[in-house]
Amino acid sequence: MKKKNQDEFWSEGYFAQSVSSEDMKIKMRTFHMKHDEEMDFNCKNCKAKISAHNNDWHDGMCDNCYNKKYYPNG
Ligand SMILES: [Zn+2]
Repeated sequence: MKKKNQDEFWSEGYFAQSVSSEDMKIKMRTFHMKHDEEMDFNCKNCKAKISAHNNDWHDGMCDNCYNKKYYPNG
């Protein structure tokens, strides 16, 4: 019984880890991309064309909207 619980713990831990690292891999693909690469997305605020990088890392917004939202005084 004790051994079974241990096995379940490890398989659950492995599952969670593999999911998050896979997510991370997908995100890291766009992290190093240029801001004008794969312009396949639209800004969720003004509908301007945005890159995969902005979609993943700038909250789905173009540079303008992102800066306005997060750096209103910058
Ligand atoms: Zn925008």
